[in-house]
Amino acid sequence: MRVETQCVQEGYKPENGQPRILPIYQSTTYKYDSAEHLGKLFDLSVPGHMYTRISNPTVELVENKIAALEGGVGAMLTSSGQAANLLAVLNIASAGDNIVCSSAIYGGTINLFAFTLKRLGIETRFFTPEATDAEIHALFDERTRLMFGETVANPALLVCDIERLASIAHAHNAPLVIDNTFPTPVLCRPFEFGCDIVTHSTTKYMDGHASVVGGCIVDSGNFDWQAAGRYPELTEPDESYHGVVYTESFGKTAYITKARVQLMRDFGCTPQPIAVFLLNLGLETLAVRMERHCQNAQAVAEYLEKHPKVGWVNYPGLASSPQHALAQKYLPKGVCGVVSFGVKGGREKAMQFMDSLKLAQIVVHVADARTSVLHPASTTHRQLTDEQLVDAGISADLVRLSVGIENIDDILEDLEQAFDKL
Ligand SMILES: *Cc1c(COP(=O)(O)O)cnc(C)c1O
Repeated sequence: MRVETQCVQEGYKPENGQPRILPIYQSTTYKYDSAEHLGKLFDLSVPGHMYTRISNPTVELVENKIAALEGGVGAMLTSSGQAANLLAVLNIASAGDNIVCSSAIYGGTINLFAFTLKRLGIETRFFTPEATDAEIHALFDERTRLMFGETVANPALLVCDIERLASIAHAHNAPLVIDNTFPTPVLCRPFEFGCDIVTHSTTKYMDGHASVVGGCIVDSGNFDWQAAGRYPELTEPDESYHGVVYTESFGKTAYITKARVQLMRDFGCTPQPIAVFLLNLGLETLAVRMERHCQNAQAVAEYLEKHPKVGWVNYPGLASSPQHALAQKYLPKGVCGVVSFGVKGGREKAMQFMDSLKLAQIVVHVADARTSVLHPASTTHRQLTDEQLVDAGISADLVRLSVGIENIDDILEDLEQAFDKL
């Protein structure tokens, strides 16, 4: 199946006489014919559901759909994108370890890694997109557990050179984790470029209607934990699971199985079945929406580029963008619906411009059907230091426009009337 078909058809496949639409199994608990069977479930020796904190049939079917979309062997939904990135790291990193991370990532992830993980004893070693291979290699040591990047950084729109990062990480027998939130698997499938684990904030385009917060981790099944020889948490007995060895019992799904039966069991950042039902509705139209988001964003970027009141435009889909070559390689179908630009006159004019918009509304959210606008330096990225802002590619005049799926003429007319007021 092609990705457009997978969005609609993957996951729930009803049998004769069953409901056509994904049922919401709003049940915390499951019934068994024998105590022995339940014992086997707890031993992980038979598949099935024990308790909704760990797994649920509605949730599982949508996990299967996202795994299929990314081309992975398994996925785990979480209650938020933050929870997905947290568990993706904690699954293989502990106090005393470190991770190597691109600085061109979402501000919330920078907070999580630079401050909160640090308090847990995990150090994050950031590199900027300009860093040379040698500089990035130098960040690795024997306690480096993974490398982390973001396909298209929110909101700096820097395109990650996934193949380059994968080859650096693999030289150190470490996996590459990529946050693929902005492109979604409709526009980019990082596993095809050597990435090992993908994470998502499903809150953005996947849901697409700004109705449910959620996240996901997807396992490619490609990283050979055994051969790497440095992931005892996967290749040696887990005390908290009467000695299960994940790589022996679960093979290619070792990483994602451990994330579920150990970390989801312990942290409990579980998505609700009803929320996952809503996510699935969004996924059904994802491919169609991404196409329109990209078309509209391209038109907006081209309009802004010619506008006399605009200082600069950043959209990797523009031929003039320094990111264009990377975008053509990794995102040939389109980059995403987010365009960032600077209004001439700096912070003050940018604010005035935003206040004058009528169709595009000021919201914190990004990447849903409605056109919206945000000033990251004073909001989502407010907690970053000036240096972190520069490293993340965010200037004080940067306006982030999340171009929706409305008629393009209405979007352009709204921008024009707001510029007229400056
Ligand atoms: C929003 C976002 C997150 C955090 O996800 P939540 O669902 O808000 O917790 C992580 N990564 C990226 C790229 C995001 O845009």
